Amino acid sequence: MKLALRDVIEQPGARVPFCCEFDLSDMEFPWGRPFRVPVRARGSVTNTAGVLTLTAALAATLSLTCDRCAAAYEQKADVPVEMVLAERLAGDEDDEIYLLTGDELALDEVLIPALVLAMETKHLCREDCRGLCPRCGHNLNEGPCGCPPPEGDARWAALRQWRP
Ligand SMILES: [Zn+2]
Ligand SMILES: [Zn+2]
Repeated sequence: MKLALRDVIEQPGARVPFCCEFDLSDMEFPWGRPFRVPVRARGSVTNTAGVLTLTAALAATLSLTCDRCAAAYEQKADVPVEMVLAERLAGDEDDEIYLLTGDELALDEVLIPALVLAMETKHLCREDCRGLCPRCGHNLNEGPCGCPPPEGDARWAALRQWRP
């Protein structure tokens, strides 16, 4: 979506709101495709004494896979975005400034990189996920599986010493 900025560029105190959705269902990360549901963005561009500031909130429902137990789960993510827009750099170079080309702003070009940067690379269905049994693959969140404890277990190591 393109946002027309001419009015807000020329008028200190002006504000142009926006509200849009991005279909990012094709976007793929090494760990999966999290955006099965469209990402919503709402915010505005404000001219404060000649300085243009974009403020936005991105709301996503992420479809994730647990790194430990491989369960699919969903998680809400809210990503705040704030940056200064300028038509040209005025002396001080600043990474936080987005350089405008013309008087339209392609919202996806500004907002989607901010969303991608905010993505976590580690995913757990819950903080204390017990994962899968290394022997039988049973999901240990659903209860114990009946396999003997792993080789390294101290109690078994002690027992083994008593064997002939
Ligand atoms: Zn899990
Ligand atoms: Zn098991």
